[in-house]
Formats: sequence, structure tokens, C-alpha cells
Amino acid sequence: MSEKSRLFYQTRLRRPVLDRAEGIYLWDKSGKRYIDGSSGAMVCNIGHSNPNVLAAMARQMEKSTFGYRLHFETEASEQLAARTADLSPPGFDRVFFVSGGSEATESAIKLARQYALARGEASRWKVISRAPSYHGATLGALALTGYGPLTDPFAPMMREMPKIPAPRAYLDGLDPALTETGHHYADMLEAEILRQGPETVLGFIVEPVGGASTGALVPPAGYMERVREICDRHGILMINDEVMCGGGRTGRFFAGDLWGVEPDIIAISKGFGAGYAPLGAVTAHGRIVDAVLDAGGFAHGFTYAGNPLACAAGVAVIDEIHRLDLMANAEKMGALLKSRLHGLAERYPFIGDVRGAGLLLAFELVADRATMTPLPASLNAYLRLVDIAYENGLILYSRRTREGVEGDHFLVCPPMIVTESDIDDIVSLLVSSLDRFAAEAGLPVARAA
Ligand code: PLP
Repeated sequence: MSEKSRLFYQTRLRRPVLDRAEGIYLWDKSGKRYIDGSSGAMVCNIGHSNPNVLAAMARQMEKSTFGYRLHFETEASEQLAARTADLSPPGFDRVFFVSGGSEATESAIKLARQYALARGEASRWKVISRAPSYHGATLGALALTGYGPLTDPFAPMMREMPKIPAPRAYLDGLDPALTETGHHYADMLEAEILRQGPETVLGFIVEPVGGASTGALVPPAGYMERVREICDRHGILMINDEVMCGGGRTGRFFAGDLWGVEPDIIAISKGFGAGYAPLGAVTAHGRIVDAVLDAGGFAHGFTYAGNPLACAAGVAVIDEIHRLDLMANAEKMGALLKSRLHGLAERYPFIGDVRGAGLLLAFELVADRATMTPLPASLNAYLRLVDIAYENGLILYSRRTREGVEGDHFLVCPPMIVTESDIDDIVSLLVSSLDRFAAEAGLPVARAA
């Protein structure tokens, strides 16, 4: 590592230089090996350096690496659109490509707005979202985001969008298995719609399984179904942000399929390109796309949209997911890893909650499990435990749980190719990391694992 980096990201934090990556492993320049326990930022769903994806990209590179979308269609983008449509809910027959998650959510709400205009409903522009949530870094997507530390600095530059609480039953002492819990939270959407005036509301954007902001929050029973009913009642579009939960890691290509509830618009990105190329997409029911195209076209687009190299990677990623049956593996290994995390909660009383679906899993640390009182913010557990695990050779992804000021949750989301013995390795690195964290923080550890 050179003395001074010419790069800058969020902070002055420096990390080792990455040398190479293969499967679930990454190696830095010193030769140290890490298990990619979070698939980067829940991106590298099929593991690193998959030879079939690399070969498909090499073949595409020899043909063309760029074709401007307004000048040419490409075989790669046509194929990826067809593959995506095959995996999408019925009627979702057209796909709009982008290069990342923020572009995907931003495009989704712009498509929704143009659909309202095409229907003569110009008064509809508000998109209700949840807090906490993360929908992207660009100002439109950030306005949907419910996470003060990221939004507050830019508040004067954004149009404020209404928020309702995310359905965090585990923090509110409610049973997520009860339909009445799901209805309790979903009904907050209807109350907000009525408060805003239904004729002003364009859509509701929701992560079917939460990502970094909520730490793999799975909605309570009945929530998604009730949300659908409420949206229908008020003519509001249901937009699923599948940027993180889509792509197969929940055991379904679209996490929304876990409830069989069809949205109107879906945004996808991370696992779609799976780290091989910057790629994302918006897919929508044909009636929405047709209405917008018939009304004069979608007034929106990015230069790199439909880039053939990125699309060739996307096609090969989907083909590998099918060939290796990775969604089934995510479901099976996810169940195993989740049960092992529950086992850790017996050893570490300061693990307050374990949650998630498939291989989109998280655990939350607390001072008191009964009351879900967070650990003292001064411990900075969300940073410290990640650093200890990193030193031990395990990469985790963490966030503050409570509006960015306190609470600590950790995503454990290895690539969908993990085996039982990989899960053993991940759990034993978690044990050594949690033991050291507990010793440093003076937290109790039970004897039995
Ligand atoms: N939406 C969700 C649910 C996300 O998790 C993210 C990124 O973490 C985004 C949108 C933004 O994606 P990107 O960082 O690729 O712009």
C-alpha cells in the first residue's frame, strides 16, 4: 500500500490493496486471504472469477464493447431482456437497462411519473417510502431514502418525500408471524396516503427483504399482501426495490415472489451484474411501459444503458445461476447459516435478533435482548466487530440500526455458491471474532456454543 492514496471515498479509512479473487475468497497484495462473507456489498452473488462469465465477457469484448442504445440494439441486451422477462412476474415483458442501483430506483420513479402523466393524473408525484431504508445516492433516489446521516446534509436540495416506519416488529415487541402485525404496519401506508391526499400520491417503494438499512428485514405476515390491496384501492403504483434482495439470494430471483404479490415496477441491480459489470434494470408491467411509449416515450436514459459488455455479463450470470441451481442452494445454505446464527445467539446473549431470507441474513447486537436496548453507541460495535472479523479474514457488512445514531447490525451474505464446509468456516471465524469483541467490550459469553 502506498503512503498516500489518490483515491477518496467516504472516510480516511484505508484498506489493503486487492490482488485477486476466486469463488468465495479474496486475496490482498500481502497474500492474506479473506472469505467474502458479504459478497462485497451483497453484489457478488455467484462468487468471484466464474470462468463461464469471464469467457462470455471476453467473447463479447471481441465483438463490441459499446453500442449506443439509440443507434443499435445488441444481441446481448436483447438476450438479457428476454432472460429477465422469463424470471419476472407475468406481464413484465420489457426491460430498461441502467448501470447501478441508484439509477434503477431513480428510473423506476421517473417511469411511474410518466405513467401517471400518460393517464392524465398529473397531480400524482409523491412517492412514499419507509424509514429506515436506502434507495440510492442520487438526489431523486436519496429523497426516497429514510436514513438521516445520508440524507440530512442534502435536505435543502431535495423534494421531501413522505415516509412511514419500516415494519420492525422485533423492535416494537410485536410478533412478526401474526397477520395482524403485518396489517398494523401496512395500514400506516393507508393512513399516510390519506394524510397526503390520495390524488397526490404516485407510488410506494419497498424493499421486499430489507438491505443494509434494516439489516435483512423480512416483513411480517400479511404485510406485502395488504400493501398491494392499499395501493390498488388508491390507484398507487407498488414499486419493489430489489436492488439488493433481487438476483436470487433469497431463494427467488425476485424476493417479492416469496409472497406471490405482484408489484407494478421492479428495480434490480447488484446481483444482476454480480460484480462482473456495472448493471441494473427497471422492469415493469407491459401496460405501464406501453402507456408511456404511446404517450410519446420515456423521457429518460443514461449513456451506458444497455452496454453490451455489461449485458453479456448479465446473461452469463443468469445462466450460471440456473446451471448451478444457485437459488436452491441459497435457500438451503441460507437455512443452515441462519440456524447456525441462532446457535451463536445462545453463546452470545448480546445477539438480540437473527433475521433474513435465504442468504440475505443479518444479526443485531444489543445490550439487553428482552428490551432490545442497543449497546452503548460509544462502543461503535458496528465498526469494531467488522474490523476484528476483517483481521481474522472474514468480511462482514454493518450499519447503525436506529436512524444511524445507535444500534448495530451485521449482514452475513456470502455468495450463493457456498457449501456446508464454507458455512463451518464462516461460523468459526464469527466465533473467534465475537469472542474477541466480547472480551474487549466486557460482554458476557455463555459456555456452550
Ligand atoms: N436500493 C437498495 C435497496 C440498495 O441496497 C442500494 C445500494 O446499496 C441502492 C438502491 C443503490 O444502489 P447503488 O449503490 O448501486 O447505486
